Amino acid sequence: MTEELKPSTEAQLDELRDRVRAIATTLPDVVFSIAVPSHKINYVSPAAEAVFGKTDEQISRGFSEWSDLLHPDDRSRVLEEWDRATHGAPFETEYRIVTPHGAVRWIQTKGRCATDEGGAVVRIDGMARDVTERREQEERIAHLTRIRSVLSGINSITVRVREREELLREACRIAVEQGGFGMVWIGLLDADGRDVKVAAHHGFAPDVPGELQLPVGNVTDIRNRAGCRAILDGIPIVDNDLAEVSPDNPLRRLAVGRGYRSVIALPLIAAGATTGVMIMYAREVGFFNADEVKLLSDLAGDISLALEHIGHEERLKYLANYDPLTGLPNRALMHERLTQRLAAARQKQAHTAVAVADIKRFRLVNETFGRHAGDEVLRELAQRLRTHSPEPLDLARVSPDTFALVLTDTRDAADIATRLERCLGGALAAPFLIDGKEIRIAMTTGVAVFPPDGNDADVLFRNAEAALKRAKKAGDRILFYHPEMNARVAETLILENRLRQAIEEEQFVLHYQPKISAVSGRITGLEALIRWLDPVAGVVPPGKFIPILEETGMILDVGAWAIRKALTESRNWRLTHGGPLRIAVNVSAIQLRQRDFVDTVKRSIDGLGIAAAHLDLELTESMVMEGIEENVQKVQAVRDMGVNVAVDDFGTGYSSLAYLAKLPVNALKIDRTFVDTMTRNPHSMTLVSTIISLAHALDLKVIAEGVESEEQAKLLRLLKCDELQGYLISKPLAPGEIQDFLISAGTQADRRSA
Ligand code: C2E
Ligand code: CA
Ligand code: CA
Repeated sequence: MTEELKPSTEAQLDELRDRVRAIATTLPDVVFSIAVPSHKINYVSPAAEAVFGKTDEQISRGFSEWSDLLHPDDRSRVLEEWDRATHGAPFETEYRIVTPHGAVRWIQTKGRCATDEGGAVVRIDGMARDVTERREQEERIAHLTRIRSVLSGINSITVRVREREELLREACRIAVEQGGFGMVWIGLLDADGRDVKVAAHHGFAPDVPGELQLPVGNVTDIRNRAGCRAILDGIPIVDNDLAEVSPDNPLRRLAVGRGYRSVIALPLIAAGATTGVMIMYAREVGFFNADEVKLLSDLAGDISLALEHIGHEERLKYLANYDPLTGLPNRALMHERLTQRLAAARQKQAHTAVAVADIKRFRLVNETFGRHAGDEVLRELAQRLRTHSPEPLDLARVSPDTFALVLTDTRDAADIATRLERCLGGALAAPFLIDGKEIRIAMTTGVAVFPPDGNDADVLFRNAEAALKRAKKAGDRILFYHPEMNARVAETLILENRLRQAIEEEQFVLHYQPKISAVSGRITGLEALIRWLDPVAGVVPPGKFIPILEETGMILDVGAWAIRKALTESRNWRLTHGGPLRIAVNVSAIQLRQRDFVDTVKRSIDGLGIAAAHLDLELTESMVMEGIEENVQKVQAVRDMGVNVAVDDFGTGYSSLAYLAKLPVNALKIDRTFVDTMTRNPHSMTLVSTIISLAHALDLKVIAEGVESEEQAKLLRLLKCDELQGYLISKPLAPGEIQDFLISAGTQADRRSA
């Protein structure tokens, strides 16, 4: 100590005290001196007002004036430290206070104990400083460091992860675990840009993601929603005070309820377009300032870039596997699929066929109508093949005008030919429209079969192509690699030719099977069932020739003929019968599929002078369900003409009753197999009972076919089935036998009801 400051007299001591006070008064920090153990405040400098928000005078009133200010989270710790200080420990600590105005401040305090001669603590002197700014700075740096670590974490996954879902999931996880954000989610905009669907999330309770949606295009107050705005404006949107909760924003209500106070929504922008949004919640009010927003935008940028990259790779993968013109698998993918199919076939010891089908004279289409028209035809053809092929993935475009098909579990040559015909024939049945002109397209097909024609995809493809080459040369429509198989297909061809002849020579006849009312036993109608009177083989049942008529399109002529014939023949019996006698005709899928189906039916009825109201058409369940929308219209149009429509073979398809309700049909025919098994199998029985009650609920009449025993008839009556048909009542009868049957049945029914 200098000479000057040595307190020698009372006056000098006073002067010194005044000078110290004067110095203390000018300091921004609070200087204090507190007596121990009394805790009387000896001195507090005027800076107290600026630091604690209480004047030195107020603080001087007592120790609690200071201790009351302590932040609840820090209070017990600080008071403990103070207590230790009163026993001689240094008092050096940082803590928060809440000023009388409610502001939270960080205070740093350093105090030293003064002791008496005996070593007992008598006083603590020290300084208190407002370090709020420094603490905030540190916290900000800590935030930024955390965000940087998120950034680098996400950077490393964008390099490593090659799959979209995983990338997004990992990004959310890292943001929560390393960034200290409480809840994070990423939503991707759907194709029409109206809805954001949650793609990944972290930090939510398992039940919450249901709330994670942003109906971008469907909500009126989207401006209130950070996520929607980020997407619409393509810039980060921050809300640093989430206290406000709007009633139709459940997500915000949830966040606020969980103690989140700040949110940022970052748009994910790929190739210039907003594709999604990443949303993060933080607990602190005002969490997101300019620095954080900048770093987080970089982060969103990295995720966007990675998404773009993945999209690019997917596109490349797509291009490597699909034909861009038609969207069908290309040769490479087909090869891969075929290899898988063969492995499965090998295990099952099943046969698999590879067919390569080439468009005849496709060059002509291109030359006559131009490349663009050619592309259109290819696209349309691909689409038709796709709808007609059982497994769209087993269809490929393998060269500009060649398609390949794989058929699994094939039986024999005829089966393969039939299935190919169904697909190719179905696709080529209708003409293609180019420049308003209808053109017909034909295809030539070569087929190789596993295992006889080759053991792997390469050999099978090669052999199918070799067969195709031969077929083109020979002008055959379809040729197998193995000559013997061609012989078998030839048989089918022969049959086909004979059927053509059968049409010309009118070798078809209709037999008629009656249906009766389950209640009265009276005959309500007849079903026309076709037979072929083959001069060589005799009476041929429809199962043997209808498929070929369908494959070749001949069914169109024969089907129209059947309607005309049935209506004409039944005219006289109606007079004999004396009551309403409906006549039902079966319709093939090929007929229904025709664009002019309705017209054809109309033309068959017109000119006969017979009311359409007597005609029923029977359509099988599977065929009406396929392409239901279009069929609803056709069926409705036929109904509008006064024709009734029944769904045949009901229960064998996959239709749901919901679809059935859409179809404007009048009746259901329960398939024979259920009627056959219902007396033995409770499951069938339940099914029949369910079908009947549901059909009635839909206002449909129910007809049971294939009723062979009294027991079945009795059960069906109990189940309230409306009409019965089957050998029990009568086999299908030739036209000459019907008249007699109607007369005798009429008297029987009269006797029964009498
Ligand atoms: P479907 O429409 O289900 O016809 C019922 C079939 O069950 C008929 O066989 C009939 O003879 C037979 N059947 C009737 N009652 C009984 C019975 O009590 N027990 C047994 N086991 N069978 C019975 P069919 O005449 O051989 O006809 C077979 C299928 O051929 C028909 O099945 C129908 O889908 C089709 N069909 C028949 N005529 C035509 C036609 O003119 N046009 C088209 N597109 N298809 C037809
Ligand atoms: Ca039928
Ligand atoms: Ca049936």
